Amino acid sequence: MEFRFREGEEVTELPEATDAGVYFIGRIRTPWTDRKDCPRQGREDGPECRIELDARWAPALRGIDVYERLDVLYWLDKSRRDLVTQNPKSDGKLFGTFALRSPQRPNPIGLSRVRLERVEGTTLVVRGLDCLDGTPLIDIKPNRCEFTPKAPPKETVQG
Ligand code: SAM
Repeated sequence: MEFRFREGEEVTELPEATDAGVYFIGRIRTPWTDRKDCPRQGREDGPECRIELDARWAPALRGIDVYERLDVLYWLDKSRRDLVTQNPKSDGKLFGTFALRSPQRPNPIGLSRVRLERVEGTTLVVRGLDCLDGTPLIDIKPNRCEFTPKAPPKETVQG
């Protein structure tokens, strides 16, 4: 899809190569096939969406069903990666990319806190997403507020 710049938006030159690789671990199924229909941020009373994890990662879901909320990270694969300033309202007011949650960013990682409705095999049925149907999945974590570390406490250095 052709990218339309808004007034004042700037790009930078991207580095020649990336520094790390990610594995897409599944795909996210949502009702939205066009960006204009996607919500800007997901809502817990939004529609059910399906996080379809690739079968090889099935054991990695062990224990996930106890959490009501999860943090889901995904790769906003239709984004520009070189925008440094953005004019979100098309009103001439510019913001730096890192002062926004825009999908256009150097590493287009989306983060949503979702409500886990149920687990169906290697699919998580959730509410609270805002991405296009087919968006690649990169990680799933229990929400920080509900999570108690399983590892023993670290010794802290005093003073
Ligand atoms: N909740 C995430 C966050 O805060 O990191 C993403 C927020 S971003 C504003 C959500 C918007 O990204 C959607 O409204 C849609 O316009 C756009 N979007 C959704 N899926 C995308 C994709 N696969 N590639 C590029 N843009 C996408």
